[in-house]
Amino acid sequence: MHVLISGAGVAGQALAYWLNRGGAAVTVVERAPALREGGHAVDFRGAAHLDVLRRMGALEEIERRRTGMGAMYYVNAAGRRVSRMPADLFAGDVEILRSDLAKVFYELTAPAGVEYRFGDSVRALREEPGGVAVAFEHAPQARYDLVIGADGLHSAVRALAFGPEEDYVHHLGLHCAIFPVENFLGLDHTAEAYRTTSRVVIVTSANHNAEARAQLFFPSPKVYDRRDLDAQRRAVAEAFAGVGWHTPRLLDALRATPELYLDSVAQVRMPRWSAGRVALLGDAAYSPCLLSGMGSGLAVVGAYVLAGELLRAGADHAAGFSAYERIMRPYAEGAQRGAEGNAAMMVPQGRLLTAFLNQYIKLVPYLPGKQMIANAARRTAEAVELPAYAWAGS
Ligand SMILES: Cc1cc2nc3c(=O)[nH]c(=O)nc-3n(C[C@H](O)[C@H](O)[C@H](O)COP(=O)(O)OP(=O)(O)OC[C@H]3O[C@@H](n4cnc5c(N)ncnc54)[C@H](O)[C@@H]3O)c2cc1C
Repeated sequence: MHVLISGAGVAGQALAYWLNRGGAAVTVVERAPALREGGHAVDFRGAAHLDVLRRMGALEEIERRRTGMGAMYYVNAAGRRVSRMPADLFAGDVEILRSDLAKVFYELTAPAGVEYRFGDSVRALREEPGGVAVAFEHAPQARYDLVIGADGLHSAVRALAFGPEEDYVHHLGLHCAIFPVENFLGLDHTAEAYRTTSRVVIVTSANHNAEARAQLFFPSPKVYDRRDLDAQRRAVAEAFAGVGWHTPRLLDALRATPELYLDSVAQVRMPRWSAGRVALLGDAAYSPCLLSGMGSGLAVVGAYVLAGELLRAGADHAAGFSAYERIMRPYAEGAQRGAEGNAAMMVPQGRLLTAFLNQYIKLVPYLPGKQMIANAARRTAEAVELPAYAWAGS
């Protein structure tokens, strides 16, 4: 079986690992010119996520490279810390920079025979009897037994095989902008957050304090053109004009940065994750949104299950895709339900609600039931039973 995976993100690399280990030939095509540097951190929580990473032989290295982030502090406009959110309330069991994770997975897959093709992308798909003919932006056309779209929220494979993004991507009403800044607050493995009416500004130390990252959340019904960096910068600057604390300094950095991430906080909801010989995995199929803290966990568990069920089904790929969806759908939908609440609470509209939330945040560390918040996230993360596949170890 020769499988083409579009996307060398968390999902695509994890799937490549498992398919390769199960004996399939795997090609990964990635639009970026090389493995990504920098970027945000992702976390894994609960037994299911950690078990898959352990079975991959990746957990030890991930723990070695963990970011080691601690508590987050809410500050007032004067910069005084008014509330401390302990890491165990919101963080997972292990957090790692996405770029570090990509390196760990690359080391497990490329030397083992997975073919990576950077700087290219799928341009067209045509299903034929017994395979899929794939046209690329650069490489010559080739034929594969199966094609898996693991190319994220704005998946190209999804658009080609299932239809336009607007049919599946549900904007949750806010945007998130992230860009690097100097660690001018001297943050030591921590973050500071400032909330004002309908705006949230977070500065978090990154790369073991060598730099920091600004994360700006704002409500927005509009979806911005992801290819127009200047328009994106202007939109963020307009949304945060007049916001206090260190926001003006962050906006200065924004004006100069070539490295801006701006995207809608969005979920992917699809009635089916496969069509013929093409299927979707990770954010492309079931993004729970970046506020869920579950996207990377869902990606690695989904990769394990998809590979396992495909290899179990042998020539009957339709049975493999169905079994993958039967196991993963309730799990992914549970994560999505939890995240909708996070999105609604992140940037409450209006002064009154913001003032209420600011008071609530001050109280959270002292609430007797505070551990329930962390426990609920853990229950969501553990709400799946990993099937056993003989060739995958245990
Ligand atoms: C700012 C931010 C913070 C986050 N924080 C967390 C967190 O704390 N915890 C957590 O669990 N998750 C978090 N997430 C979500 C997490 O990153 C994703 O859910 C997870 O990485 C899903 O992985 P994926 O491989 O499905 O998609 P992605 O990580 O998006 O990977 C998709 C890959 O496909 C490539 N690609 C895209 N289009 C094409 C194309 N046309 N052809 C070829 N390749 C293509 C991309 O370059 C990328 O490498 C966060 C996400 C963001 C954006």
